[in-house]
Amino acid sequence: MRNYIFRLTKKAKLGGIQNWIILCITVFVVAFVAYRADQVSNDSYVQLVKSDTRIRFLDLRQTTVEAIYSKFLILKELSTFIGDNPDLTQANYAKRARRIMGSDRSVVSIAAARDLTVSLVYPLTTNRNILGFSYRNSNNEFPVVQQMLRDGRETMVAPVTLTQGGSGIILRAPVYISDIGNEKRASEPWGIVGIVLDYNRFIEETGVLDLASSYDILISSTDASGEFNQTLFGNADIKNMDPIILDFVFPSGSWKVYAVQKGGWPQHAPNLWRDRIIMAFMAAIVIGIMIFILRLAESRRRAKNFLVNGIEAMDDGFVMYDADDRLILSNQKYRDLYNFSDCLMRPGTPFAEILKSGVFREEYLHDPEGQQKIINRRLDARRAGKAMNFEQHLLNGRVIHASDRRMSDGSYVGVRVDVSELMHAKEAAETANRAKTDFMGVLSHELRTPLTVMLGVAKLSNNVHLLKPAKVLLAAVDAGDRSPAEIRLLIDKLFQHLTGLMARMVNSGDHLLHLINEVLDYAKSESGSLSVVSERCEIQDITRPVVEQLRTLSDAKGLAFKTSIAAGTLWADKARTGQILYNLLGNAIKFTASGSVQLIVTITQTEVVFDVHDTGDGISETEFEDIFQAFYQVDSTATRHAGGTGMGLAISRNLAELQGGTLTVSSVVGEGSCFRLMLPRVSDPAIPVNS
Ligand code: ADP
Repeated sequence: MRNYIFRLTKKAKLGGIQNWIILCITVFVVAFVAYRADQVSNDSYVQLVKSDTRIRFLDLRQTTVEAIYSKFLILKELSTFIGDNPDLTQANYAKRARRIMGSDRSVVSIAAARDLTVSLVYPLTTNRNILGFSYRNSNNEFPVVQQMLRDGRETMVAPVTLTQGGSGIILRAPVYISDIGNEKRASEPWGIVGIVLDYNRFIEETGVLDLASSYDILISSTDASGEFNQTLFGNADIKNMDPIILDFVFPSGSWKVYAVQKGGWPQHAPNLWRDRIIMAFMAAIVIGIMIFILRLAESRRRAKNFLVNGIEAMDDGFVMYDADDRLILSNQKYRDLYNFSDCLMRPGTPFAEILKSGVFREEYLHDPEGQQKIINRRLDARRAGKAMNFEQHLLNGRVIHASDRRMSDGSYVGVRVDVSELMHAKEAAETANRAKTDFMGVLSHELRTPLTVMLGVAKLSNNVHLLKPAKVLLAAVDAGDRSPAEIRLLIDKLFQHLTGLMARMVNSGDHLLHLINEVLDYAKSESGSLSVVSERCEIQDITRPVVEQLRTLSDAKGLAFKTSIAAGTLWADKARTGQILYNLLGNAIKFTASGSVQLIVTITQTEVVFDVHDTGDGISETEFEDIFQAFYQVDSTATRHAGGTGMGLAISRNLAELQGGTLTVSSVVGEGSCFRLMLPRVSDPAIPVNS
């Protein structure tokens, strides 16, 4: 079995539509997951690149903002120094500016404009040309610096085309003459001080140019309208390329910096195809595993169906319980045997519940104690894991052979075989055997009785002189005192005695012959070779010899023998029909102690009906059919007393049927019986009856 299931497993295809649906869903899910993973991998790579870019530009922002702040600090310091020394000379200014500024290469100049006219500048040599520049003469800048002095705030302007040449960033701060202790003069403006940064150098120093080799960068500052429309660096087109955006906020003004990786953000992760191949491989493994699982499930399903169908096809009841004694499965035959409902036989029903219903169907219905005993015994056996073999006699008359076995995993298997037919056949065989044994007894008795008579008579014939009449005759002859007439009388008496003995011997011989004929007829009837030769014959020709033969017998028993025989013909075997009637009338006389025996023959259109009535003991209805079975006798003791072998009626019915007729009985116990032989009037119903 295991090998066969294994073969099933190996051969199992994917099978049912369900499995294909599951497989399609799996493929779809795996494909979707792979697609999403591919997308996420790309997206996260792009995000990684963007966040990396952002970090680098955050560094740039810090550097730039720090640089600008440091320049404003220089301005502050210088502004304070000039405020403290409003009448500063160019030499002192230069000395101070050099010290503050150090060697910052991005600074083009540091100039101070007293009363808004540039009067001090450092380094003087390269910026001499701006000395004497008056802001008052600049329409653009005058309002700005005036506002500065009013607000006391620094400004930053970029990019600016420098008078020294090139473009720059200009940071300016107001200067107020300081006079501690005189608050009125403390806010008196001196002018402004400003630093001009070389734009390109500043950009280079902050690292923008380095980044520009890897990124497309746009730096824009606010224009007059306050919008970031003024390009300080780069190309404004990158605004449309999903750039990262950072705000650079300075003490005065701010920049917006846009950055995109050179050539735009990457579309794919660098190891896209390697990742895709790995993903495809993993997807193939997942789908392969799924196919394997589905095939395994399919083969299990097929193996299960195979077993369930096999169990269902069994001619015997089959039931299975798990280790917790709960129903796993049962076949239809099992449910039918006990007439269990489908509701009760649902998987999971406890064994005890089914057992109770089952016992209720056994012959213990009216014996609650017996029921409980049986339930307890079977439950105990189940708990002890014992195998059980027992017979159940159900209320519906069926006999079930039950065998329960526990399996190694603790589950239980039960097989129920309906042995009712077997039991009935056994009972029938036993009955037949008993009947045959009885028959042998009866037969030997029936044979022995006439044989004993015949042998006895024969022995007596050998010793006639020992007979009483012979002894009397011999004594008379020896005495010589009797007359010849008297001797003649004695001789007649002896002859009479001998004739009586011979008659008894002939009767016994007839009886024996009848017996042997019956046995031979029965043997023929059993082998199917009993035959009849039907012909048209007169009813009276059949009944007369039988009635004549048996009348003496009935007279001897003191019974009234009545006959009413219609005249007519029938289509029958005369001798065999006579044999049937002889048997029926013989039985009637034999089983009637007093009263009458009657033969009534009537004729219908198609049949002749022979009714044999008697006023004997009668036969109970339950035995109406049994008495036609060979060797069956109603009451063996009475029968023995009455004589007979139990074959007569079986042979008679067979003979009646061979002639196309029937033989039936009706009887009331204690009142008498009526055997009815019906024979057809013609061999072919189409032929008209010619009576
Ligand atoms: P048997 O040789 O015993 O008479 P039969 O086959 O003729 O055998 O009859 C079978 C049995 O049927 C008899 O033994 C008897 O018990 C019963 N039987 C037959 N005829 C009658 C009857 N007229 N009245 C009562 N019982 C009868």
